[in-house]
Amino acid sequence: MVFGVRVGLGFDSHEFEEGKPLLLGGVEIDFPYGLRGHSDGDALLHAITDALLGALGEPDIGELFKDTEEKWRGASSEIFLKEALRRVKEKGYRIINLDCVLIADKPKIAPYKGRIKENLSELLGIPRECISVKGKRREGFCSEEGVACMCVVLLRKEDED
Ligand code: MG
Repeated sequence: MVFGVRVGLGFDSHEFEEGKPLLLGGVEIDFPYGLRGHSDGDALLHAITDALLGALGEPDIGELFKDTEEKWRGASSEIFLKEALRRVKEKGYRIINLDCVLIADKPKIAPYKGRIKENLSELLGIPRECISVKGKRREGFCSEEGVACMCVVLLRKEDED
């Protein structure tokens, strides 16, 4: 049924910042810089959160978790993702698949793709086979001094199976 399927698009980018760990998809990457942000700066989890919220027609991550609120300073982005996931379940949907692109000249994403997929599989409660994580060099797109992430997610009503 056409109304039982929803697609969501997510995008986020953050600049590098010294003095914090680099987290992408909840996985710590061995790199001298982390990502600037009010929270832990995990741009991939932010993009996925926004894709889930967007698919549902819910307010976006910036509206739900304002960067002016002290309580979100340094917060784990898994909190944001879990709230989006709670809303997915509350509205009776489940995730069919998630496709992600990480755009960065550095660090190299390839060595971490497996671990990121594994962690996302655990966080989202869906099989690894339903998740794709790709690394791309930026080729002039976005800043050299940061990471950009895009993703799409497909949701389906639980009772449409
Ligand atoms: Mg962000």
